[in-house]
Amino acid sequence: MIKLENLSVCYNKGKENQCLALDNVNLEIADGEMVAIMGKSGAGKSTLLHTVAGLIKDYDGVCTVSGTDISNMTEKDLCRFRQQKIGLIFQEDYLLDECTVRENLMLALNDKKMKHEERESAVANALKKVNFVKMYNCTVGKLSGGEKKRVAIARALLNKHDLILADEPTGNLDVENSNIIMALLKEINSTGTTIVVITHDADVASYCNKTVVIQDGKIL
Ligand code: ADP
Repeated sequence: MIKLENLSVCYNKGKENQCLALDNVNLEIADGEMVAIMGKSGAGKSTLLHTVAGLIKDYDGVCTVSGTDISNMTEKDLCRFRQQKIGLIFQEDYLLDECTVRENLMLALNDKKMKHEERESAVANALKKVNFVKMYNCTVGKLSGGEKKRVAIARALLNKHDLILADEPTGNLDVENSNIIMALLKEINSTGTTIVVITHDADVASYCNKTVVIQDGKIL
């Protein structure tokens, strides 16, 4: 599913504040795996995930996702590739604060050739999965950080993806909700979706089959 070969990412190359965030990383994640990426803050975890998502394009080495070398794709093709293949759950939620939970999720289905009722039912199902149906008509701006995270996760669950990339998906959640989300990701993984989760939390990592530790841009 994911193959990184001699992957290096250097921010601000050639400048005084140059930073080698990933240093010659080689990593393979097979179809259907559920993998935790752990490591101290600044180790390079988010850079790795963002590169796999095609959000960082300036790197050395090869990044293959779902059989496709994404390094030479145009921005438009990358965008389509992401929409079709990858569910993203990132630290920044990218939700519209002034819209309701329902409206945010409906927007994510805008490009789909679906009937209105089908969209409504997909949104209701995704919210049910993250145990959040009661917040259906709440304005997102009024939600707590943890609640917004649940909406972002529901959005990632609207489509059936080959791969889910999650950056601290339980970051702002209490233990109960954290367990709900991880059990949910585990359930999705059991249907064949590959999942990569960045976490600081050993309990969260325990839901995964494999843990990869990054330190100073290198895999230990
Ligand atoms: P982690 O996710 O493990 O906390 P990151 O991948 O966010 O680590 O960061 C790895 C290193 O790259 C850090 O030293 C960080 O300061 C640096 N870095 C991350 N993003 C940028 C950026 N956009 N510009 C410059 N340096 C960055």
